[in-house]
Amino acid sequence: MNFIHRICPKITRVTGALSSATRSFASVAPSGVSFALTEDQRNFQELARTFAHEVIAPNASHYDKTGEYPSEIIKKAWEIGLVNTHIPQEYGGVGLGVFEGSLITEEIAWGCTGIQTAIEANGLAEAPLLVAGNAQQNKKYLGRMTEEPLMAAYCVTEPGAGSDVAGIATRAEKKGDKWVINGQKMWITNGGKANWYFLLAKTDPNAKPGDAFTGFIVDADTPGITLGRKEINLGQRASDTRGITFEEVVVPEENVLGTPGKGFKIAMAAFDITRPLIASAAVGLARRALEESAKYASERKTMGKAIINHQSIAFILADMAIGIESARNLVWKAAWLRDQGERNTYYASIAKAFASDVAVNSANMAVQVFGGNGYNTEYPVEKLYRDCKIFQIYEGTSQIQRLIISRHIAENVANL
Ligand SMILES: Cc1cc2nc3c(=O)[nH]c(=O)nc-3n(C[C@H](O)[C@H](O)[C@H](O)COP(=O)(O)OP(=O)(O)OC[C@H]3O[C@@H](n4cnc5c(N)ncnc54)[C@H](O)[C@@H]3O)c2cc1C
Repeated sequence: MNFIHRICPKITRVTGALSSATRSFASVAPSGVSFALTEDQRNFQELARTFAHEVIAPNASHYDKTGEYPSEIIKKAWEIGLVNTHIPQEYGGVGLGVFEGSLITEEIAWGCTGIQTAIEANGLAEAPLLVAGNAQQNKKYLGRMTEEPLMAAYCVTEPGAGSDVAGIATRAEKKGDKWVINGQKMWITNGGKANWYFLLAKTDPNAKPGDAFTGFIVDADTPGITLGRKEINLGQRASDTRGITFEEVVVPEENVLGTPGKGFKIAMAAFDITRPLIASAAVGLARRALEESAKYASERKTMGKAIINHQSIAFILADMAIGIESARNLVWKAAWLRDQGERNTYYASIAKAFASDVAVNSANMAVQVFGGNGYNTEYPVEKLYRDCKIFQIYEGTSQIQRLIISRHIAENVANL
């Protein structure tokens, strides 16, 4: 019995049920439209919920205040199967769909979105391999994630280019049978903790974006890689975000992901998997804001009654609930479409844009419900207020989501 099972008897019960379920696990995504979760899905959800309540939430403030990387918590989450959930069974993973991933992510995020982002960054780095990795690459790099609690990172953004991915300047040049990478990446989650990176570099400066970039898998211990300092961010301070410099970094040909020149599409396709999950994390944060607010509003009295009985406060809670339920439905649709093998880019962007706004509004309103106490670090909503903002920024800002959505509308005017 390992540490996590000793401190959490409930998790032992759930993982026991789960291990027999996952042995026969093929695909738990329902084939038709249904809001009824399968038994396996409920088990995964309960496992993550128990873990978030018993392990993540009680420690979240410590990691937020110290900025310490939550290695111990991630290790425990990894031990019970809550990390790297979409790695296929043939590479040692559980092979869950995006839908099941969204159930788990909402719960982890309820506990702490800083810790959830650290965990999710693995999923983001792994997604390009799921999209374009060959069997040898997947066995080596995805397989290794299931053997040890390792971290990975997705290196696309640069100091001069975030939304404008086609503007990245990192170069990879073919020299003999190797590639040599030079450039600088910025805002890389898990940057200082990753064992390997997915990296996008320009390989043909004269080509259009669709042919100009190549995706690489880069081992983090390759000579020529220099890590920047851990950035001190507004929120999600448990997460490790850094700049990384690549100077004459030599990568073998076998680490080219997919076809040379086609990396832009691979890097963007990864978001069809991960944006529903970011959206589900935003739902988790908003749900936490509602739960904390409802509890506080039932206890705090002004003018002779609990503030939940003042209609203006009660309606704030109602608006939070409307947002959360709506956002979760968008997440489920975007995730479900992906698991059905259908293109979900439009729905993934809608889910991410909407859920991010719901998280930001809910955290903002939670501080209002708490009054002065909401502005203080002794109460949980101040952290939510700082943590929520990044949902409108990373994995494509809310403006970029609206760009994707509006382009889709313009291209499908006759068939909306
Ligand atoms: C904590 C954190 C973690 C991150 N993790 C990662 C990671 O792991 N890997 C990675 O590669 N990147 C990561 N990022 C980078 C993140 O994806 C970018 O910051 C984001 O895409 C925005 O890019 P930018 O910061 O360069 O802003 P800019 O692109 O300069 O945008 C500035 C503003 O202009 C708006 N804007 C830009 N272009 C348009 C347009 N065409 N139309 C309308 N509005 C526009 C934007 O919406 C934004 O409001 C992370 C960032 C942060 C802060």
